[in-house]
Amino acid sequence: MSENDIAVPGEELCVIEEFVPGAYTYIDERGNVRATVTGVVKRDLKTHDIHVQPIKGRQLPSQGDIIIGKVVAMLNEKVAVVKIYAIQRDNGRLEILKHAYTGLLHVVQASDQPTPNTSIKDVVGIGDIVRARVISVKGPPFLLSMKGQNLGVIYAVCPYCRVELRRRGRVLQCPSCGQIFKRKTPIVD
Ligand SMILES: [Zn+2]
Repeated sequence: MSENDIAVPGEELCVIEEFVPGAYTYIDERGNVRATVTGVVKRDLKTHDIHVQPIKGRQLPSQGDIIIGKVVAMLNEKVAVVKIYAIQRDNGRLEILKHAYTGLLHVVQASDQPTPNTSIKDVVGIGDIVRARVISVKGPPFLLSMKGQNLGVIYAVCPYCRVELRRRGRVLQCPSCGQIFKRKTPIVD
C-alpha cells in the first residue's frame, strides 16, 4: 500500500511490528493491523503511527450513481479496471471525487447485447473515458455497468496517432489513420 491509499473495513494495512495502530484501526488475532472504516490510510514514518482518516458518505459512489472514469487495465479477456474520478448528477453536473476509486467492468455488463465470444476489448480500450453506472452496493472495488443508451465510451484516442476517435455508425474511427475500433458508445449523449 502506498500513501493516500483507500482502505475498506477489514482490509490489512500492515503488521504490528511495522506501525503503531492508531485511529480507526484494530489488530487481528494474527498481529495484522486492519482498518475499521473506509478511509484514507495515513502513515507517519517518523512516529511509526498508522491510522485511517474516514471518508464521509458523499465522497463515495453509491449504487445507481452514474460515474465518469478511465479504463486503466484489463484483468483478463472479460474484465476491465476503471478508475472512477467523478459522479455525474441528474442535472449533468460533475461531482469530482476527492480520491479515485477502483471499479470493475465485466463484459457481460459492458454492452447491451454481449455474446459468449465478446471480449472486453470489443467494448472498451485502455485510456478510454467511460460513463457507467455503479451496480454494486459496496466498494471499492465498485462493480460497473455500461448497459443503457446514455452509457459507454465517451472519449477515446487512437493508440497510434493519439488523436480523438470519431463515431462512425456503431464503431469509432481514427480521422488520421482511418483505423476502426470496436467500442460500446452511448446512443444519446
Ligand atoms: Zn490513428
